[in-house]
Amino acid sequence: MDSRPLRTYPGSCHCGAVCFEIDTDFPELTMCDCSICRRKNALIVKVHESRFRLLAGEASLTEYQFHTMTARHYFCKVCGIYPFHRKRVTPDHYGINVHCLQGFSADGIPVRRAVGAAMP
Ligand SMILES: [Zn+2]
Repeated sequence: MDSRPLRTYPGSCHCGAVCFEIDTDFPELTMCDCSICRRKNALIVKVHESRFRLLAGEASLTEYQFHTMTARHYFCKVCGIYPFHRKRVTPDHYGINVHCLQGFSADGIPVRRAVGAAMP
């Protein structure tokens, strides 16, 4: 695995209302083929909830749930950007939209295709 040193990455939505930070070494990125991820076209890194901190914008987030109502998909009410979601199979983890992270490049990190569409 071509992972990176563990460090803190700040992230935000487009308008800046929602700010957060994560600690990760980027073991891999995932692209999911489920009905919502296809539409978001998001590239995701998974982090445990202990490595995720919402710094601002709780009141600006809106939540969307569907199907099994387990995963919690968050969007900024102001700019509509998806910054992160609570995962369905591992609800103590967040999936983070890596394109919301400052100073991040996905170069060299392996991308795994997740099979969300085939989940029951
Ligand atoms: Zn926003």
